[in-house]
Amino acid sequence: MNKGIRIARLFGIDIRIDWSWLLILLLIVWNLTSAFSQAHPEWEMLFSVGMGLIASILFFLSVLLHELAHSLVAKSQGIPVSDITLFLFGGVSNIREEPKSPGSEFAMAVMGPVASLVIGFSLLVLSGIGLRVKNLRDLQIMQFLEELGAFRTIMVWIGSVNVILGLFNLVPGFPLDGGRVLRSLIWRMIGNLRKATQWASYIGQAIAWIMIMAGMAMIFGIRIPFFGQGLIDGVWLILIGWFLNNAAIHTLLNGGNVLMLKKKKSQTKLTQQQSCDTKC
Ligand SMILES: [Zn+2]
Repeated sequence: MNKGIRIARLFGIDIRIDWSWLLILLLIVWNLTSAFSQAHPEWEMLFSVGMGLIASILFFLSVLLHELAHSLVAKSQGIPVSDITLFLFGGVSNIREEPKSPGSEFAMAVMGPVASLVIGFSLLVLSGIGLRVKNLRDLQIMQFLEELGAFRTIMVWIGSVNVILGLFNLVPGFPLDGGRVLRSLIWRMIGNLRKATQWASYIGQAIAWIMIMAGMAMIFGIRIPFFGQGLIDGVWLILIGWFLNNAAIHTLLNGGNVLMLKKKKSQTKLTQQQSCDTKC
């Protein structure tokens, strides 16, 4: 992947933005500006755009905190992390070695979603809206926004985004965090990282194909719980499924290489292993 622009260095890790992330920035500012001006027709246009910009910067920080949680656990286990890159579908921590034990992989994988869920639920509870949300769908339709002022509007939005970020990454599709948690459990059970990676990748591909088929069903007007129905949501789900399927196949090949290189002991160059995170 293109390394993008370096914008900062935190805890010895380069923080980078891929060019594709700018597309997400535009989409978020555009979406939020229109949502905010619908919920608050009394706001000036420029104020709504400003709110959209602030919200997208907070979104950026949310993904960054999620990745930092993974990376700091990795570093605490003595595993080097070269950079964190934010791109179209979320963020990637470039962790330069396979984890040393199932327990280490479990901690590394689970801390990202835990960070997102803690931040998300804290913001929702602080905004006073958290206890009124009955299901996941409520988080997306912004139905409460009309009653809220600017500050709480942003808080509810960014809180919901963090909860969705945490929950989505827990889907057990390798190489999502949930898939890595699954791999660590299989690894612990059978004691073989290579076989565990294969199993987790196959399950990841199966889940990706279920997403692609669900997306197709949505395009044909079938309602899928939590995901809705219709062309745009359907195409979005198909894209995420396609991306996940590629990632699962790619990481399997990549992971295999790392293990083979280690076996031969003839190469010192580390093959990059990427921990991918996706956000819909
Ligand atoms: Zn993650």
